[in-house]
Formats: sequence, C-alpha cells, structure tokens
Amino acid sequence: MNDVLITGLRTRAVNVPLEYPVKTAVGTVATSPLVLLDLQTNAGVVGHSYLFTYTTLALKPVQRMVEELSVVIAGEPLAPFHIDQLLQSRFRLLGKAGLFGMATAGVDMAVWDAKAKAVGLPLVELLGGVARPIRAYDSHSMDGVALATERARSSAEQGFTAIKTKIGYPTLKGDLDVVRSIRKAVGEDVHILVDYNQGLTVPEAIRRGHALEQEGVSWIEEPTLQQDYQGHAKIREAVNVPVQMGENWFSPDEMALAIAAGASDLCMPDLMKIGGVSGWIRASALAEQNHLPISSHIFQEFSAHLLSVSPTCHWLERMDLAGPILEPTLKFKDGQAHFGEVSGAGIVWKEQEIERYIV
Ligand SMILES: [Mg+2]
Repeated sequence: MNDVLITGLRTRAVNVPLEYPVKTAVGTVATSPLVLLDLQTNAGVVGHSYLFTYTTLALKPVQRMVEELSVVIAGEPLAPFHIDQLLQSRFRLLGKAGLFGMATAGVDMAVWDAKAKAVGLPLVELLGGVARPIRAYDSHSMDGVALATERARSSAEQGFTAIKTKIGYPTLKGDLDVVRSIRKAVGEDVHILVDYNQGLTVPEAIRRGHALEQEGVSWIEEPTLQQDYQGHAKIREAVNVPVQMGENWFSPDEMALAIAAGASDLCMPDLMKIGGVSGWIRASALAEQNHLPISSHIFQEFSAHLLSVSPTCHWLERMDLAGPILEPTLKFKDGQAHFGEVSGAGIVWKEQEIERYIV
C-alpha cells in the first residue's frame, strides 16, 4: 500500500510580525522567524509544516539542515514512522536535540500532513480520533499591569476560560500586582496560569510560589532553569500550586527523565522539540502512564489534532506565531478550538503574505 513516494522538499524562511511581542522574564521575541516546509510526493499531495526558530540567528541554519535532509528522504515511502526511524538511525551521533532535532521534527510533521492528505483525512482521523473541540487557553506575555489586564479581559470576553500571563517581574509585588489586576478583570471562574520562563532561583521560586498560593493560580510554569529537574521537584514539594513544564524537553527521552525526577505535576511538550507528531505520540503515552495532564506549546494547528487523541488532554495553548502567513483554519470560539473542514493538519499558506515576509 505504500506506493506513494516522497520526491522532494522545498523550504522557505520567513520572518513575520507579531501583534504583540512575546516578552518573557528572560528576553523578548519581537518577530516570528519561521522555516516553512513543503514536502512533495509522486501522488501530487504536498505536506506542509513550519518550524519556529525563536531567533533569526537560527533561521538560515535550520532551513539549510532541512534542505540537507531532503536528499536523505527523497525516494522513500510516505510512511511517517519509517522516515522517523530512518532519520534516527542515520543520524544517531547527532542526537535528538538542538537545531538538528528541530529540523527532523519539521520533516516528521510534513510527512504526517502529506500522509493524511494522501488518504483524504484530517490528521486527527488518520490518528484514529474524531475532530472534537479542544479546550484552549489564551496565551499572553510579560505585558505589565495595564496591557496584561486589558488582554486578559478581552480573552475572557471572547469566551476563554483560561489565560496565561508571563511574570517574573523584578519584585514579588510586581508579580502579585499583575495577577491580582487580571483576577479583578476576569473574575473567579477564569483560570489564571503564570509562566516564569525559567527566570527564578529555586529559593526565590519557593518564596514567590507560596505567595501565589493565595491567588488561586492554576499552574506555575518553568519557575526555574528547565534542565534543573531536581530544582523543579523541590519547588513542587514546597508549593501548593501545580508545577508545569515541558516546552523545552527535546525528545520523549528528556520527558522521561523529568518524570523520573518528579519535576512536574503537568506536562506541556512542544511539538517541535519533542520530535514532531511521532515524538508527540510517544510523549502522550508517557503522560498517560504517569497520569500527567498534557497541554500543548505553540504550534496550535498540529497540536489540536494531537491533543484530540491524547488520553490525558488538558489545554491547547492559543499562541498564534504563524498567523500572518496562514489561513485561519482553526477557529477559536467559546474558549475552544474548532477544526472546521480541513485536510491533513490544516496548514494552508497565504502565499501573498509569505512573499512579503520572505528572508
Ligand atoms: Mg512557557
């Protein structure tokens, strides 16, 4: 049945504007640097995916790496796990992390997208699930009291039942001012999630975490350095608010190490860093075995399909880093993401906009 073959891969690099810069306790992302992938097949279907490279510095290197991978997969069957195994065994000495891990994840996503299109299904149905609405939270930045409050109020008015704000202001009072102002604006029934983006030491995280216990926040995300699983475990033990992490786990192997260390109450793998769709499927199984509610991190289009088939599905993050160059196939209504009629993962390029932002 695997008569569809991969024939090539086209890449483009774009740098797209953001409605709001992504401000965090450890730096600002002002624009969204993306590598766009078009995976070609002999059946005419084209698989799409995009990679978010965090900084323009990594844009061209990641694009170049994906292009090199094109040579390796040309002529191979359109079979996602086959391609995943091929890349993993061929490049074992490069490991699964860093720019190389990002590049291979982009290929994996594009292969899955093409496979779903080749059989005429949305990705969620190829994976054996049904396209159901997924509960989503609206994800904001380190915006200061006024803007953070305004954005939270607007999200609540649109029907979101959870919002995330990034904190880690110079003082604990700065954090509390933002959280309390948001609470006042959205009321008691909206979940407030807070994200420190690794900005605190362990003792400071415990001090601020204790204060946040009184504010009814629903999770504290990456309070300290992401690779410090023991530190996260200490914070988790000391503070009576769920600890959330996972966006920086490269591959399910790192997720397993974090789980073994008792680092987190919840998990939120990043589709790209965890290893694409194939990586997410393995991560989702780990989450189920360990009873960890699983949420997504950016990549909202693909992630909606994957959360639909994840047994411990928790929240979809709505953060639209590719919005300007994508048709909005995923619709947000009443705090939920709705698929609409899509083929594959629902990635549809706005070609004219891509022209505008090409690097
Ligand atoms: Mg985060």
